[in-house]
Amino acid sequence: MMPGFKVAIDGPAGSGKSTISKRVAKQLNLTHIDTGAMYRAITYMALEKKINLDDEESYKFMEDVKVRYEKERIYVNDLDVTSLIRSDLVTRNVSKVSSFPYVRKILVHIQKQAAENIDVIMDGRDIGTVVLPNADLKIFLTAAVKERAKRRQKDKEELGIKQDIDSLESEIIERDLKDSTRKESPLVCADDAIVIDTTHYTIEDTTNRIIEEILKKEKYHGRTTNEGR
Ligand code: C5P
Repeated sequence: MMPGFKVAIDGPAGSGKSTISKRVAKQLNLTHIDTGAMYRAITYMALEKKINLDDEESYKFMEDVKVRYEKERIYVNDLDVTSLIRSDLVTRNVSKVSSFPYVRKILVHIQKQAAENIDVIMDGRDIGTVVLPNADLKIFLTAAVKERAKRRQKDKEELGIKQDIDSLESEIIERDLKDSTRKESPLVCADDAIVIDTTHYTIEDTTNRIIEEILKKEKYHGRTTNEGR
């Protein structure tokens, strides 16, 4: 039995995992951890260090790197890389970096430790299957690829970046394919996850739907931990 109340949110790129997890966390006093940000942070570091991204051995630099996700910010060795990890260069390379068992082993360990003894909502690709296999609630979020590309386009427009929908769509398809076909803990839906297709739902709708599922759980009401609140 794991202390704390655990929610696992998995799904493909652009399905709304982080946005929705953040909102659920806020409304229900859970700690939110975005594990994608950790894989992006390592990718950012690898690019900075100009290592050979194809050579698993070169990721040994991770031994000297401390990755931490706290209050919606991501740090490597106390350097805040929250904005830096959203670059196109990082997005294009993150699926390769995250495919190496060595990289995954280290980050999964950090994620398991971070979730210990707290009430947490964690989002990623392998949370319900590998990181928190005993989670109290598992959600798998999906959406049609066209809709996910549209959402990404809107996010980018808000940052003042224009990108055509077709190239965004092909980037998403490529990343999904890499993430779901890798050997080590690929993106798959856990057997006991609730699947929510968000194509025709607003952020609000999906947030409320997940909150409803959490409130159905007796353990949520009887939880005993105080952190994350
Ligand atoms: O969630 P986000 O799109 O930021 O994730 C970036 C990438 O990190 C994913 O495309 C995937 O390659 C990797 N990832 C992963 N396992 C996780 C979370 C993210 O492999 N639990």
